[in-house]
Amino acid sequence: MNRSVFIPDNYKQVYLIDMTAKELHERQTWTLNQKIDHSLGVIDSFIARNNGNVYLAYSGGKDSTILMKLCEIIKRDILCVFVNTGCEYPSIVHFVHKMQDEGHNIKIIRPKITPREVWKQYGFPLVSKEVAEYIHCIRTNPNSIKSQNAFGLRNPDSQFVLSDKWKYLINEPYETSNMCCKKLKKDPSHKFAKEYGLFPIVGTMASESKLREKTYIRRGGCNVFGENAQSLPLSIWLEDDIWQFIRENNVEIADIYSKGVRRTGCAACGFGCQFKNDTRLAILRDLYPKYYDMVMKFENNGVTFREAMRKMLKVNGLFLPDENLELKLQFDE
Ligand code: SF4
Repeated sequence: MNRSVFIPDNYKQVYLIDMTAKELHERQTWTLNQKIDHSLGVIDSFIARNNGNVYLAYSGGKDSTILMKLCEIIKRDILCVFVNTGCEYPSIVHFVHKMQDEGHNIKIIRPKITPREVWKQYGFPLVSKEVAEYIHCIRTNPNSIKSQNAFGLRNPDSQFVLSDKWKYLINEPYETSNMCCKKLKKDPSHKFAKEYGLFPIVGTMASESKLREKTYIRRGGCNVFGENAQSLPLSIWLEDDIWQFIRENNVEIADIYSKGVRRTGCAACGFGCQFKNDTRLAILRDLYPKYYDMVMKFENNGVTFREAMRKMLKVNGLFLPDENLELKLQFDE
């Protein structure tokens, strides 16, 4: 793909402070070409305003692979940083090495701690980031404002109230926590960025979650400048745009996508597995059974991840992919 950078007329709107959900939704209806031009303008501006001191936070997934293609149009040798957390699908790690061998400027960094150690020290990532954070907060500091808000006590309008069905986690013998992302992803990235004085370009989209949509609206656009400068050039893209771009530009992506995986990221994370249509664990067990077995044996306070996951899934009437009908009958007794 070889495009010249076109800065659209509405480019200035990228920096509107008073963004509304309506404006975001309007942008999401733009054509793919309009979005590409918008993203190139965002990247160009971010690199220029930061004197080239930027890097692409590269996950090896399809979205950040597209973002790499766009960034390389503006800066051919843009630095791409991949954090090998130890939780990635082997297919993703293999793909990142392949891209590196093909000449993309990819640096691979690692956290100081392994996933097994994080889960043992801090707790399992269960249900969702928000739920895990609140459970951890309630267990460690039950009188804090955050803990009270989790029960809707301080602020009845609080955007997050802990659902009754996850309250059992408060009294479990094992810890539940959102520290895993911090230790495995954020800390190594922040350390790297600080050490080299670089600011990140990240391939997330507002359409991925309500939280990301709200963040985009609050920020008023794709770029944030200053001390915590960050660029999110794909913010207004939709999942369909990503696939259209891949098709139209014949973009090579990791082969894991051809095996039923819709979203990459950590292969055995407990966040989101409680949804009926989540196939992550089934795919992991199917494609990488040894890895699946290993992760299921990770422990916190003497309880295995398997036991914690079994209980979490049961709340929604679900089961681990390798647990059979016999076990189902046991639960029903
Ligand atoms: S996505 Fe899940 S497994 Fe991966 S770092 Fe975050 S909490 Fe840990």
